[in-house]
Amino acid sequence: MAKKWVYLFGEVAEAEKYAGSWDGVRALLGGKGANLAEMTRIGVPVPPGFTITTEACNAYLAAGGKFPDSMWEQAMEALRAIEAITGKQFGDPSRPLLVSCRSGAKFSMPGMMDTVLNIGLNDKTAAGMVRLTGNETFVYNSYRRLIQMFGSVVLGIPDEPFEEAIEHHKKQKGVKDDTELTAEDWKILVEEFKATIRQHKGFDFPQDPIEQIRLATDAVFKSWNGKRAVDYRRAEKIPDDLGTAVNIVTMVFGNMGWDSGTGVAFTRDPATGEKVMYGDYLMNAQGEDVVAGIRNTKRIAELGQEMPDAYAQFLDICDKLERHYREMQDVEFTIERGRLWMLQTRNGKRTARAAIKIAVEMANEGLITREQALKRVTPANVDALLHPQFDPKAKKLARQQGTYLASGVNASPGAAVGLAAFDADLAEEWGLAGKAVIMVRPETKPDDVHGMIAAKGILTSRGGATSHAAVVARQFGKPAVVGCESLNIDLAGRHLSVGDKVVKEGEWLSVDGTTGEVFAGQIATESPNFEEQKELITLLTWADEICTRDGIRSWPADCRGFPTRGLQVWANADYPRDADRARKFGAKGIGLCRTEHMFFEEERLPIVQAMILAETIKERKANLDKLLPFQRADFEGIFEAMDGLPVIIRLIDPPLHEFLPSYDDVLEEVITLRIQIANLEKQGAKPGELSPVQKELLRKQKLLHAIEGLREANPMMGLRGIRLGITMPEITQMQVRAIFEAACNKAKEGIKVHPEIMIPLTGHYNELRTANDLLVPVAREVMKEKGVEIDYKFGTMIEIPRAAVTADQIAAYAEFFSYGTNDLTQMTFGYSRDDAERNFLLFYVEHGILPKNPFQVLDREGVGELMKMGVKKGHDTRPELECGICGEHGGDPSSIEFCHMAGLHYVSCSPFRVPVARLAAAHAALGFKYEGD
Ligand code: PEP
Ligand code: MG
Repeated sequence: MAKKWVYLFGEVAEAEKYAGSWDGVRALLGGKGANLAEMTRIGVPVPPGFTITTEACNAYLAAGGKFPDSMWEQAMEALRAIEAITGKQFGDPSRPLLVSCRSGAKFSMPGMMDTVLNIGLNDKTAAGMVRLTGNETFVYNSYRRLIQMFGSVVLGIPDEPFEEAIEHHKKQKGVKDDTELTAEDWKILVEEFKATIRQHKGFDFPQDPIEQIRLATDAVFKSWNGKRAVDYRRAEKIPDDLGTAVNIVTMVFGNMGWDSGTGVAFTRDPATGEKVMYGDYLMNAQGEDVVAGIRNTKRIAELGQEMPDAYAQFLDICDKLERHYREMQDVEFTIERGRLWMLQTRNGKRTARAAIKIAVEMANEGLITREQALKRVTPANVDALLHPQFDPKAKKLARQQGTYLASGVNASPGAAVGLAAFDADLAEEWGLAGKAVIMVRPETKPDDVHGMIAAKGILTSRGGATSHAAVVARQFGKPAVVGCESLNIDLAGRHLSVGDKVVKEGEWLSVDGTTGEVFAGQIATESPNFEEQKELITLLTWADEICTRDGIRSWPADCRGFPTRGLQVWANADYPRDADRARKFGAKGIGLCRTEHMFFEEERLPIVQAMILAETIKERKANLDKLLPFQRADFEGIFEAMDGLPVIIRLIDPPLHEFLPSYDDVLEEVITLRIQIANLEKQGAKPGELSPVQKELLRKQKLLHAIEGLREANPMMGLRGIRLGITMPEITQMQVRAIFEAACNKAKEGIKVHPEIMIPLTGHYNELRTANDLLVPVAREVMKEKGVEIDYKFGTMIEIPRAAVTADQIAAYAEFFSYGTNDLTQMTFGYSRDDAERNFLLFYVEHGILPKNPFQVLDREGVGELMKMGVKKGHDTRPELECGICGEHGGDPSSIEFCHMAGLHYVSCSPFRVPVARLAAAHAALGFKYEGD
């Protein structure tokens, strides 16, 4: 039997049998085709039609643009089946069947692919339609629309000659709206359009309806490889080999008079997630009129007054669809002479804010489980909610200063500041050059997507909440204000104006996609308040709950002591304020406090430098004694913020020269001073004038000498980490004293402290043993002095491959491991973490030599294997060993998934990444894979 290339909407069960799953049906029939068929199955009114499969598209493309065997015959047979259902006939003037030809890939690509409407009209059927409908205006408007779409989509003629002809005609007649044109006008335009085709292509618009449908199908298949579809797929990481299906659907008309109409709607507000119908419609119009934003649409709720019966039915259907798909739906409908038809349903695109609200509310409504809700939210969604907004004070000030320009539809929330760019190519060029850009257009089209992706924000003067600009901006999480009608956008003059205010191309604009306001100039932004994001907090609580489930991880019998719950999320925080923030974001501990960062503060650095440059131990200790109160105060603050939770404090790590001025700078100062002295001597200066300069020279020379003494050819592999702690034990002893004094002081106040002392850069277990011998007595001494017993841990970072390989030996001296994957990546690859990106690493990634930047996304095969080895060997020695990660990878979702699989207890990342990491940890526990991974 010949392969089945064509499925009627009524044949969804057959498609499901062949494809094996609903996902398979979507891949085979495309999202649109699958949903039209599914709606037919559940009794929603859908105009009869059929789908030519994506497999047919792929076969067509593989054969260099040839329909596969028997596909066309099957399509013709399906057409006959539709004729039978509708009682109409294709090409028959007495009862003409008209169809649309629409593309539809597995994943929705709004506006990316091509559509042709009113196929089946020709001179004869048009005349027949007039006889049937008595509505000549409607018929000839439909006919010109077919010729126009056919000309641009199928024959590749630019849209302008068609649009200009209409504009010219309207001007001549002195009318503004298309609906004011008469049958005679459309007839003239039909003839003009035919002539345009003849002039551009050298042949006539095909009068044979079968030829029309064949060429349109061909064009849809070809459009899969068109530039705008390819651009969109790149941006959305949609694979190239999916192909598009072709849907042939009986036409129903929203422009058959004032009892007809058409609209698009979301079952919930796609910007805020609120449970209200959200959309636009137009009476006496076709779908594209609504989306294009050319005519001003009405809010969907008004339909309730205008056509109460149809609206009630529409609400019922939307409710049914949401319950059926258990997802917010984005629907298209047409009312033809009072009768409602659903033309499309799909899961609606939404902002990050809406995604989270809808997921949480649907779980609360019982439509989906909490696990499903978690899976519906991506790390990027969470990230977007932590993104900047305009600082209200700065915005108020901007208003007072008169930089407010206008307001439009708040189509996609968030604040964006950038240079005005008046076309997509320029927006892309500037965006790629690293400039912040606001792309400004009267309206956007699919061809503009590359510019929208590159822009920080989008501003249009036309179109509504469901216009192309709005839908695409929301999808990409770009702040957007659309339909800002009072803006006068002069594309030729490259500026926009409102009254006497003018913003030229390249000047700053600030766009508030949350409120719809537009300002000239730059407005300061601020991060949103996490505590106000109720739904996000709820969702993250659910995420934490998943990760605390015992048994969510299971291990082979030889993995003694591996965690059976999910990952915890801890934070890297160096200061009390960071710890505070981390806790607010939901961190369950501090995984890394880099103590040396505290050394850089203004009043401390001179003491640190004096300590480093000390010539005697006594002098060094005296300076360390001065530092101790500072460190103790910092630790007290952190313990207080993390009351009841573990705090890992790492002892000093970087090479000492990092605290001193650069050798070259001091050398320059020495030379300058010498020249100054020589000049003074030449001028016969007195000793009184010379001696201060000479003193300064001596001081600088001493400093230079000291810096020289600390200089290393390869400091990252030199005297740092534990090596420093062992060779200059006074520094780490001071730090341990500060930690324990702080812990004891806070414990006395009733705060629950859980310090964990972490040794950096261990390579050999003897290093750890030596450090242990040096530090434990200090800890004991302080606890004795203070009369308090503190429950503490002593452990190490695993940053050197040797440490991972000998983890069984290391674990004999360490109660915990923390993977410092920044250094571990550096040392495993042998790439300098300071230079690699700028020198070759980005080139490597761009050219596919490495799949990802290993400093951002953990290299599972190399670094990851070392980690796994370390976890296993460490637990073999010490089953209760606590393992975590504190390198940058601790906040990266894919790396977090790996940490889950490798048996870590927690991931630690910067406070701002904690919410994302909590979601990613739950996703890992649920075995959820990110698309494209
Ligand atoms: C690491 O190396 O991963 C780490 C956390 O330490 P640092 O970045 O301070 O070297
Ligand atoms: Mg490190």
